[in-house]
Amino acid sequence: MTDGQMLFAVFVLLYLHECLRLVPPTAWMAAGTSRTGWSAQRPWTRLQIAGGSPLLLSALPPMQAHALALPWVFVPEAAALRVRLTDEMTVFIAWDALALRVEESTLHLDEVTRVRLPSKALAELWRQRLGEWSGLTAEQRRSAFLKHARATLDTKAATKMALETARSTRALRALATVHCLWCFGVISVLYHRFGDSVVVFAALGVLLLLQFIQSWLFLRATRKSAAAIPHRRWRAVGIAFLPQLAMRAFDGVNLSTEAEPPHPLAWRGLMDEKRWLEAARKFWRETRYVPGWAQTEALPVEAEALERFFRHEDVAEAEYDPPPATTKLPTCPRCGAEYQSGVTACADCGGVELRQPAA
Ligand SMILES: [Zn+2]
Repeated sequence: MTDGQMLFAVFVLLYLHECLRLVPPTAWMAAGTSRTGWSAQRPWTRLQIAGGSPLLLSALPPMQAHALALPWVFVPEAAALRVRLTDEMTVFIAWDALALRVEESTLHLDEVTRVRLPSKALAELWRQRLGEWSGLTAEQRRSAFLKHARATLDTKAATKMALETARSTRALRALATVHCLWCFGVISVLYHRFGDSVVVFAALGVLLLLQFIQSWLFLRATRKSAAAIPHRRWRAVGIAFLPQLAMRAFDGVNLSTEAEPPHPLAWRGLMDEKRWLEAARKFWRETRYVPGWAQTEALPVEAEALERFFRHEDVAEAEYDPPPATTKLPTCPRCGAEYQSGVTACADCGGVELRQPAA
């Protein structure tokens, strides 16, 4: 490997590192632009670092804007607080066992349980909110949760937030695309052809100029939200001199928001409708078909929030909870597995009752 190739490889690695984000394992990330449409990405949850999971932002040009969503992590149940750690794993913490403490963007709930939130401000918000909830009656907690659920399922606000993100970073992203192609494309070709020569130095000069412009654009785009961006001026200096920071300067504008992220289903209208419906069915199954669903009339509080939302959005029950395929076998309403006659509960879903076939 020549020195030039080595340098190129180092830059690619530095760039990919800059595209990595540590997010809550339950988070969803929408990537897109108002022109191309949006698609959802999920973090790689097999790996957990300090309560978060890595997510690779879309790295290839043309650069896309990103917006974060978070399903309901904290759900009040009668006897305990349910905490969603990953899509598959939840834990219960008794209300009087809560010992809330914030450390950067991590919220410690007791000695062993911790949840990484998208920002320190949000960790602080949840410390306060959970402290309040623990002092309420079960009924008051339920209505406090429903209020939170309604606020995070505002489709208009969620769409507006994502589009605003795309709008405010348009110039930064356009320049980042040019910068990325110049850095990894033009300069590599010139170096390959001319080696250490004036041409290559001139191309490096252009790269530096692009970075200075990027730094200025970054400062301009973050003027209003300066307080929410840690080390904003140092970051601008970094953007001016380090190519990998310059290429991802727009992330600093995008992902610095301290506002409460929406629920992923609030992206109706932003996401492709088919994908949205798949997600809606999944969230519904997981919140509705919990152990004990068949015996109780009352919906779990999350399912109640979703049912209200679907009604408000005019989504028919047959769409978000399609009738089971006709089968002569008992079926799990949560994961869809079929069992032999006589079995009554799904072992994979923690004892969810099976739907028995009509006689
Ligand atoms: Zn199941």
